[in-house]
Amino acid sequence: MQQLSEEAKKELEKQQYRVIGKHSAVKVCGWTKKMIKGEGGCYKLKFYGIMSNQCMQMTTSISCANRCSFCWRGYKAPVGKDWEWDVDEPEEILKGSLHAHKKLLDGFGGNPEAHKGAYEASKTVRHVALSLTGEPITYPKMNALLKRFNQEHISTFIVTNAQYPEAIRDLEPITQLYISVDAPNKELLKKVDVPLFSDFWERLLKSLDYLSQKKQRTCIRLTLIKDENMCDFEGYASLIHIGDPDFLEVKGYMFVGASQQRLNYKNMPLHEEIVVFSKELVEFLPEYEIVSEHIPSRVVMFAKKKFKKNGRWYTWIDFPKFHELVLSGKEFSSEDYLRVTPQVGISGKGTLEHNAQLQEQRRKKKESMYVNEDTAELDFWKE
Ligand code: SF4
Repeated sequence: MQQLSEEAKKELEKQQYRVIGKHSAVKVCGWTKKMIKGEGGCYKLKFYGIMSNQCMQMTTSISCANRCSFCWRGYKAPVGKDWEWDVDEPEEILKGSLHAHKKLLDGFGGNPEAHKGAYEASKTVRHVALSLTGEPITYPKMNALLKRFNQEHISTFIVTNAQYPEAIRDLEPITQLYISVDAPNKELLKKVDVPLFSDFWERLLKSLDYLSQKKQRTCIRLTLIKDENMCDFEGYASLIHIGDPDFLEVKGYMFVGASQQRLNYKNMPLHEEIVVFSKELVEFLPEYEIVSEHIPSRVVMFAKKKFKKNGRWYTWIDFPKFHELVLSGKEFSSEDYLRVTPQVGISGKGTLEHNAQLQEQRRKKKESMYVNEDTAELDFWKE
């Protein structure tokens, strides 16, 4: 059985990770901290209604079957094709991760920069983002863990790199399931993801096929690396058509962590380049429309047209409804737990100057950027 060495554990803790049991880890997301400081939330707040201050970022496996060039993980991070760890119990992971997350936020208690209400709310985790590092879906007891999160009324997003199709097929309902599509064709995927599996392409195709059969919310995420994978619109469109997701996120690569040893600052596209790419891509996807953007994260969101009703987009999640449905054990679909999206649209001019003005306005509005679920529709993201 594989074990995380004491040295590797110390290295992770130095980077503010907390290792839970033998194969899981937690790290507080930068957006969770920003939200507590009243500096606004992440793009998943704007697109889907996730409260960043009540979000816990974690993984159930620090091991991965890829060595993606754009990933912040170093090449020393554990990799492997098969599960090689002793299996921790879901309850141990649930309790251990919530405890570690809370402890990591303790410092905000006496921090004058913290918004008191946002900090108090952060003590009750309402969402878990299973996407921190590694490939969470390989954890053999994932469905039992998801059930525990559901029972605690904690919504779940999982991001998978599509190398374990059967794990996707066998996954019980979750709030939103993501597949990362990192390149538009086989040759580029090999270059960008550096996969361990020789049949990586077939695994991706099969995973997309299983994604298309899911009844609850699904999303495909593209990570655009300038001069590497911002090409072949037909290739991306044909993969998207196989996966048939409800939503698409087209996001720019961020020059962070160990990826800086493999890529260059210039590989990071500007937000307006993401907008231009998205506008071209949507031409190949007649069943989708561009809905929204989040400039600090350099991301544009598309949704299927069925989420637009009477001229209004419904991409936010009705969390109480989701929990009611998932706990009922009855069949339900992504259209059964929707809320109206408070703010939509993308930066009209798409020029550098225009975006700089928006950033400045955002900075000035800092004071009013903490929201709670009741006021979100009134005063958030007015640009
Ligand atoms: S949803 Fe993701 S980006 Fe947003 S606060 Fe949670 S971990 Fe961070």
